[in-house]
Amino acid sequence: MQSKTICLLAFFTVIQVSNSLLAQTNGWYTANEIGAKTWVIKEPGFDENMYLLEGQDSSLLIDAGFGMGNLRDFVKSLTSKPLIIVNTHFHPDHTGGDYEFPFVCIGVNDMEYAKPFLNPKVVQQITSQMLRDTTIADSLKFPESRVEKTILIPVSDNHLFKLGNRNVQVINVPGHTPGSIFLLDLKNKTLYTGDNMQTTWLFFKESLSVQTYMQSLKKLNKIKGKYNTLYPGHGKSLDIGILDELEQCCQQILSGRCEAKPYHSMIGQDGVSCTYKTVTIAYDPTKVK
Ligand SMILES: [Zn+2]
Repeated sequence: MQSKTICLLAFFTVIQVSNSLLAQTNGWYTANEIGAKTWVIKEPGFDENMYLLEGQDSSLLIDAGFGMGNLRDFVKSLTSKPLIIVNTHFHPDHTGGDYEFPFVCIGVNDMEYAKPFLNPKVVQQITSQMLRDTTIADSLKFPESRVEKTILIPVSDNHLFKLGNRNVQVINVPGHTPGSIFLLDLKNKTLYTGDNMQTTWLFFKESLSVQTYMQSLKKLNKIKGKYNTLYPGHGKSLDIGILDELEQCCQQILSGRCEAKPYHSMIGQDGVSCTYKTVTIAYDPTKVK
């Protein structure tokens, strides 16, 4: 009995120690290790994810959150390797922190859209509207004196980020935005999917047609063996089966087999939606084909 108690105590001690080793925070951002040399970074008040992948020679930061805190110093506390920053797409909850970095890579077709969000004043205005009551201490903000003149670097389909013993491939997935990209960590078979999730939004002015989105998904389903986990831009990791379901959902919409329902998003933009198994696509009914 006594040895059992000791074992249990030891077990819980290990859990506590390993949790404290895995989670790191600067009071605003929190990083959790989700794989070898791989972290998800989150900020309070919203559910968006940034990911940090470290290779032998350099590290890749996927997305830059809302841009409210000092992301640059926080990421540097996690990795000492030279940093490459890439945006999955241009929306401000993914590009907010770009202004902290001198160079940011982005899908070639999202370049023009991303430019306004390189201005920290624009970013702060948008984020304070979106995050409403969320406040951040001045000591945790990125200092105005260090704001960069960020240069956007376009990346094309199949571009390889070579991090040293770890290659990450760009896959163009036009739909949610024209320049949306997925990032495929070839060694670890993980796919970073941005805003392509269980509920995918195609109702923005800049979103492409359901038909175009289906073509994007077909391409991914053709390389199924190359990934076994999906890490989206919001929420938890996803089963790879959702990509197939999203493609089927597009097919239902295109063939008229889905009865579209009105869809109201929490950001005040509306469309119609179709649900297939566990996924929902919300889209503009005038942009099906
Ligand atoms: Zn988005």
